[in-house]
Amino acid sequence: MHDGPGCRTNVFFVGCPLQCKWCANPESWINKKHIMFADKVCKWEKGCRACRNVCPHGSIKFADNGEPMINWNVCRECETFDCVNICPNNALKQCVKEYTVDELVAILRRDFNNWGSEGGVTFSGGDPLIQHEFFVEVLKKCHERHIHKAIETSGYAKQDVFLKIMKYIDFAFVDVKNMDKEKHKQGTGVDNELILSNIEALKKSGWQGRLVLRQPTIAGYNDSDENAYKLIEFMTKNSLYEINLLKFHRLGSTKWDQLGKDYEYNKHGDVSEEKMEHLQKLYLDNDIVCYIGDNTAF
Ligand code: SF4
Ligand code: SF4
Repeated sequence: MHDGPGCRTNVFFVGCPLQCKWCANPESWINKKHIMFADKVCKWEKGCRACRNVCPHGSIKFADNGEPMINWNVCRECETFDCVNICPNNALKQCVKEYTVDELVAILRRDFNNWGSEGGVTFSGGDPLIQHEFFVEVLKKCHERHIHKAIETSGYAKQDVFLKIMKYIDFAFVDVKNMDKEKHKQGTGVDNELILSNIEALKKSGWQGRLVLRQPTIAGYNDSDENAYKLIEFMTKNSLYEINLLKFHRLGSTKWDQLGKDYEYNKHGDVSEEKMEHLQKLYLDNDIVCYIGDNTAF
């Protein structure tokens, strides 16, 4: 309901060119099948060792106190997932599914009658631009069937790829995480030049869709007035008049644990309501509509 107009089906692609330190979907970083491990439902204390016994790569060991220890470097290269099939408690899960273009479009067509007149599909992730060859074929089939298509993207792709995909998109959320090139790189792993230049190129291309910029707002990273004023300048210069500020949250933090990754934002990053409203006012005072959280007007 909050990822585009009306009621929608969301498709989450795997693979992302960014690796944001606060990411809520880190399971979508790698463009291949891989496992997640939920230690809270693992029955190692009851003596279960089933995963260790079937793993052909010796990736799971148990510490002296009995706790499982996973060699994540080995598991990330695995293609058999024997442990997932044997785990009696769903503590180990394989978190990626593969579809052909036709299989995915069949699911979207199944949902067609549930969307109402305004809804459609939102392609998210990860970043759908990573699998652009597959994605464009899905988009063409949606287009033929007059399905409304939205995207949530980092905007980080070669410009010809970005513009080719956007040709089929009706509504776009494109993230601008930080206007400072170096800070963008510190937080996401890549700088912002390609993203900003893709947004500019999209505006100049005569694209007829609706573009809302988006910023996950993180204390000490991008919640300064200075960053807001730079973004306002960029938006005004490019005739962009809508932004959605998302308040920092930790809903994805357990997934970092389940992937064997260290999450840096356990104790910081929170932005107060007052700060969010202050930032909103800066945009509004400069004639840019600013939505906070899931309040984007569709
Ligand atoms: S994902 Fe593969 S390598 Fe890792 S524990 Fe399971 S079977 Fe072993
Ligand atoms: S098979 Fe599942 S429940 Fe048993 S030890 Fe392994 S992860 Fe835990």
